[in-house]
Formats: sequence, structure tokens, C-alpha cells
Amino acid sequence: MNSELDILIIGGGINGMGIAADAAGRGLSVLVCEKNDIASATSSASSKLIHGGLRYLEHYDFRLVRRALLERENLLRLAPHLISPLEFILPYEKNLRPGWLIRIGLFLYDHLTFNSSLPSSKKINLKNDARGDALNSTFETGFSYFDCRTDDARLVILNALSAKENGATILTRTEFISARYENKKWMVILKDNKTQEMQTYYSKVLVNATGPWVMDTQKKVISQTKLLVNLVKGSHIVIPKLYEGDFAYILQNKDKRVVFIIPYENNFTLIGTTDVASSENFDMKISLDEEKYLLDTINFYLKKLITRTDIVWSFSGIRSLQSDTENKLSAITRDYKFELIDNMALLTVISGKLTTYRCLAQDAVDQLHKFFPNLNPSETLHTQLPGGDIKNRNFRAFLKNFCEEYAWLPTDIATRYAKNYGTRAKLLLQNKNSMNDLGENFSHGLYENEVRYLMQEEWAQTSEDILWRRTKLGLYFTKNDTNKLDDWIAKQT
Ligand SMILES: Cc1cc2nc3c(=O)[nH]c(=O)nc-3n(C[C@H](O)[C@H](O)[C@H](O)COP(=O)(O)OP(=O)(O)OC[C@H]3O[C@@H](n4cnc5c(N)ncnc54)[C@H](O)[C@@H]3O)c2cc1C
Repeated sequence: MNSELDILIIGGGINGMGIAADAAGRGLSVLVCEKNDIASATSSASSKLIHGGLRYLEHYDFRLVRRALLERENLLRLAPHLISPLEFILPYEKNLRPGWLIRIGLFLYDHLTFNSSLPSSKKINLKNDARGDALNSTFETGFSYFDCRTDDARLVILNALSAKENGATILTRTEFISARYENKKWMVILKDNKTQEMQTYYSKVLVNATGPWVMDTQKKVISQTKLLVNLVKGSHIVIPKLYEGDFAYILQNKDKRVVFIIPYENNFTLIGTTDVASSENFDMKISLDEEKYLLDTINFYLKKLITRTDIVWSFSGIRSLQSDTENKLSAITRDYKFELIDNMALLTVISGKLTTYRCLAQDAVDQLHKFFPNLNPSETLHTQLPGGDIKNRNFRAFLKNFCEEYAWLPTDIATRYAKNYGTRAKLLLQNKNSMNDLGENFSHGLYENEVRYLMQEEWAQTSEDILWRRTKLGLYFTKNDTNKLDDWIAKQT
């Protein structure tokens, strides 16, 4: 038997963890249960952009784009180590959208908010500009604009850390099984997926933030639900670096969708995404058709031909979007929606974007005033995310100082630490004065000291948690390297 919680949140993706961080920051007692690892589903399978979403303008979704652009600026300020500006080049393809439409779209993108710190869009001549070098020679004109990139899984982890530091309990590998509302409180049964043990918790409010599983979870909570969602799968491929230069491309397609080509993890290029209807059996693998769609798009625009054999990694994620039978999948709004069942203290989150998670979380907790009349205002707009307390939000200066302070660390490792952990990298290196102090070297700059830190501070339990969500070293690790890490982890438990 446990004492009564204020909020029990089901789902440890960006929305669940964002709500946990907001609620715990306001002094509520919070528990999050995640059936797998933090960010193990959609929130680690996104295009990793903090963006307004240029293409949503075409669907007149001005509210969403404006909100996302405002949040882009907020998040740049709150996590300058993890979120950084990225230039996008849009090659003009005369058979698709007319030039004037693109110019109007970019004008709106520049002006829907008044606080952007990013450069404005402009027209460029691809014939005499290095940003056109990788493109087929038929493309003469392009447009440049800025958005931001991030590491999606780490953004979720930062929110989990923030929640924990304000007293929240985060239970990973802990599955929500059932819940009953009686005498104005929820009795919730959770299962520890490692030991199979059942646990009972009591909570004033229950939050369903299970992303693509939202319907599944809802059915376990209430006998009849009016909730309807569209499940849409999107896939990405990763290939070795396709071109020089730290800028992305946004490519238009005949089906009115866009494909991003994004420089990724120094030596790679990330390409995505597709939009296909998903069934409830959640096929999380990219299909051959989706691969072909992405490869064909790249090969239409770029000089270098790529084939399936270039693909080193692929991943898919599923969005739960607001129900809509009128529009094409790509045209359904990505804006979030809540369903609050007052007489049961049940709040359900539908849809959303990585970019708008902070305001989604703030809005979600604001909805709960009725249950917590003395609720404090949200603090998240003014609270740096863990590791983000970088002077003048100047990441470059921070990195330079960090590399000087830890001159014994190879620059590539120091840079990775600074980007991944921000100012928390100093915590990771507390009492360490030489490479010898970092312990066993697993491979590619992953040392025992970092693995211990991730297991103690960031809920990592398996090599996959460490190689694909806490870091992206999985892109470099061989099977043998992973086995070595697995063996070491097995000895710790
Ligand atoms: C292909 C693709 C690309 C995208 N790109 C971008 C982008 O570039 N920028 C952007 O802003 N947005 C992007 N998005 C949107 C964004 O990724 C999603 O809106 C967001 O990740 C959804 O987060 P979530 O927390 O709702 O869901 P999830 O991340 O899926 O989290 C739900 C969690 O609930 C857990 N869960 C489910 N059932 C249970 C249970 N019974 N017990 C316990 N836990 C449970 C799951 O394990 C999961 O971890 C993209 C989405 C997709 C699909």
C-alpha cells in the first residue's frame, strides 16, 4: 500500500515526461510508469526537429505553426546544448508548388512570431552556391530558412531528470495494467516487467499519455470511450554522410509531402519521413515501399545515387493523431488535444509534437485546477532543462571552456559530452583527472564511467538504452562491442 499520489502518468514519452516535469515543478506528487525504457517509442523515432512545421501552413494550421515557432525559441533558450539552429535548403521544383506560394509561406514562417533569434529566409542561386553542389544540375533556384534540430530521446530524459529532481518517481519497465476509480481516487495496478511483480498505487488524477497506445490504455480504464484516433506511421533511414556542409534539405514530393535530408551524428545523414496508415498491431519496421519512397525522392534531387545497401539504420514511429476521416493522413493536424473526464479525474493526451511538448504539458496541468485548487503556476518557461544552464546560452563558448578545462579528454569525446549532458558533463567527470580514471573502454569513446553515470542517474538498464537512446553510439558499435557492454552490464546486476 502506498500513500496517495496527486498524479499518476502512464507513458514515458515526451508528453508523459513533459507533464511530469511541469506537475512536479508545481509541487505535485507525481509518478510516471513506462512499460519499456524512457522514450522507447515515438519520442525516439521522430525527425528530431524543433520546428514550426513549414508544410502545415499549406493546411492553414497557423495556430499550430505559430505555437511551435514560439516554442522553438523557448526551447533554444532552455536547452542550448541539446537544441541548435539548422539551415534548410528548399530546391525550387517548377512542376510542384509555384515560387510565389513558397515565398508567401516563408514570409509567414519568418513573421508569425516576433521573437525569432534565427536568420530570416532568403532566395539563393544554387548554381553558384556550395549549398547547391550536391543537387542535380536541373535545380537552379533554392530558398534558405532556419529551424532547429535536437536529440529527441535525450529531450525526454532531460524532462525525466527535471521531474525526478522535483520529487517525481519514474518507474521504467513498469507497465500499466488496470485502474479503478472509487471514492474520488484511482486505484492503479502496475506490473514490474522485470520481476512480473504487481504493485498497487493510489492517485487523485490519472493521465493517459501513451501515444500510439492511447486507445488501448483508455479501454483498460473506462468501459466505454468515445475517443477515436488515426494511427500514422512514419519511417526514416540513416546512410553514411551524403554531402559536405552542416545544412539540411527539404524536398518537395508530387504527393505534396516533404522529405528531409538532415546531417546526423557527424558521419551520417538522416532521411525521412513517410506517412502511412498504421494498424493497431504496430509494425515498427520500415517497409520496402517506404524505403523505395525515400530513396526515389533522394535520387530525383541529388547527384549521388543511393540504394538500399547504403542504409545503415532505419527506424519507424507511430503518431496518434486526432481522428479525421476528411483529410489525407499528411494533412491531419499535428496539434494536441485533451480529453478530460471530470467525474473520473482522467486526462487523456492525443497527438502533439516534440516541439510543442512544453506548452502541452503546461496546458495539461492547468486543466487539473479543479482537482488541485491551490495549484502553483507552471515554472517550465523559466527553468532551464537539466544541463542547459549555459552562460548567455552560448554553447560554443561553453564547449571551448569545457575542452580547455578537461584538456586530457579527446576533443570528440569532450564535444559529445558537452552536447549530450551540457553543464551536467562536469558531474559526469567529477573527481576524474585522466583517461585512466574513466575505467574500461567499451569502444568508440564509451567508457565505464559514463555507463555507470547513465545507469545511476538516467535509468539506463540495457546496452540498447545506452547505445540508442542515452547516446547514439549504436551507429558505431559492432556486435562484439555490444556484447562486451552487455557482459559488463550483466555483471553489475
Ligand atoms: C515519423 C515521425 C516523425 C516526427 N518528427 C517530429 C519532429 O521532427 N518534430 C516534432 O516536433 N515532432 C515530431 N513528431 C511527433 C512527435 O515525435 C510525437 O508527437 C511525440 O513523440 C509523441 O510523444 P508521446 O509521449 O505522445 O508518445 P510516445 O513517445 O510513443 O510515448 C508513449 C509511451 O507510452 C508507453 N506505454 C504505452 N502503453 C503503456 C502501458 N500500458 N504502461 C506503461 N507505459 C506504456 C510506451 O512504451 C511509450 O514509451 C514525429 C512523429 C513521427 C511519428
